[in-house]
Amino acid sequence: MALKFHGVDFLHLDSSFTEDELLVRRTARDFVEDNLIPIIEDCFREGRFPRELVPTMGELGFFGASLEGYGCAGMSNVEYGLVMQELERGDSGIRSFVSVQSALVMYPIYTFGSDEQKNTWLPALARGEKLGCFGLTEPGFGSNPGGMTTTARRSGDEYILNGEKMWITSGNISDVAVIWAKVEDEDDRVRGFLVETDRPGFKAHEVHGKWSLRASVTSGLSLQDVHVPAANLLPGTGGLKSPLMCLNQARYGIGWGAIGAAMSCYDTALQYAKMRKQFHGMPIADLHRQAEQRMDGAGDGAHGTRHPGRKRDYRGLPHHAAHDEPGVGEDVRGDARHPRADSGAAHHRNRGVLERVS
Ligand SMILES: Cc1cc2nc3c(=O)[nH]c(=O)nc-3n(C[C@H](O)[C@H](O)[C@H](O)COP(=O)(O)OP(=O)(O)OC[C@H]3O[C@@H](n4cnc5c(N)ncnc54)[C@H](O)[C@@H]3O)c2cc1C
Repeated sequence: MALKFHGVDFLHLDSSFTEDELLVRRTARDFVEDNLIPIIEDCFREGRFPRELVPTMGELGFFGASLEGYGCAGMSNVEYGLVMQELERGDSGIRSFVSVQSALVMYPIYTFGSDEQKNTWLPALARGEKLGCFGLTEPGFGSNPGGMTTTARRSGDEYILNGEKMWITSGNISDVAVIWAKVEDEDDRVRGFLVETDRPGFKAHEVHGKWSLRASVTSGLSLQDVHVPAANLLPGTGGLKSPLMCLNQARYGIGWGAIGAAMSCYDTALQYAKMRKQFHGMPIADLHRQAEQRMDGAGDGAHGTRHPGRKRDYRGLPHHAAHDEPGVGEDVRGDARHPRADSGAAHHRNRGVLERVS
């Protein structure tokens, strides 16, 4: 039996949230407690993506949550962050799936797409009726996507794509892939294409053997002479800046997600420490060193994620405008690893080898 989450707010930061923000968090939290937590342990063990949850996540407005129109929820950046926080509190793989659908598929269509592309894809992606993936990384080029070897060649009213992509979240369960390629007729400029995954020459295979994010699907993609209409080019894309803008959008949510993971680890460690008795039947939570370790970890990176969110909302910045902010998210993400490691490993000691304590 999983331990029920009690909530973590030692710095009383909840008082800085609006009613709407708290409502969004409550909705996401209830979804995680009622729908995700009961099945996620088995999904993780089996390496199974719980696709059955997709329609409900669509109904709750989790996909493309901060986008306006096209059936999207139009949440503020802080509300969107709170959804990501709660989802990752449930499972990093599920947050990762939602990040890709939202920030790496819907966001580029919304930002760089034609009206026709937006009308065709965004409402269906928002409902979760269609799933998408983002193909930037290649077997030989990860941190350095500018080295990519995937190409697009113009031929009449079509482009012909060739290349390999690797480590692509949701690749083999997607209906559409946002593929980044160097366009031969444009001096190898990097541009984005919408590639329907049932086109001849497009293949996706699942990557097996992961030790983390096991409930999210990770794939390799192969494109061999895949013909797409010229209308499938995302017209607003131009250069590596375009996919990097998408990654920035994703990192904002990932920063919030890391706080959710840390909250879950902290709360689980606390509950376990109150339950576990050592030394004359005393709960280990009463031992001074234990309390000290927990409080070190609880020194809330959450403060750091809220700040860039408020900055975006107050300034009315477009989602791609503030390039410094993902950097803040990355710092927070790094910081948030400490409570996770301290609480999860140090507090549980031998039990740290297990997936959970009960
Ligand atoms: C579960 C999972 C899901 C993913 N989903 C997607 C997806 O949906 N779409 C997609 O396009 N990609 C996806 N990726 C790919 C991910 O973005 C890449 O793993 C990432 O770009 C790093 O590339 P790499 O793994 O090839 O590492 P490499 O580029 O080979 O780097 C190896 C190590 O060297 C370090 N390093 C590299 N360059 C430097 C430097 N200049 N200075 C210091 N250190 C450096 C890196 O930080 C890393 O630790 C996913 C990866 C995983 C594991």
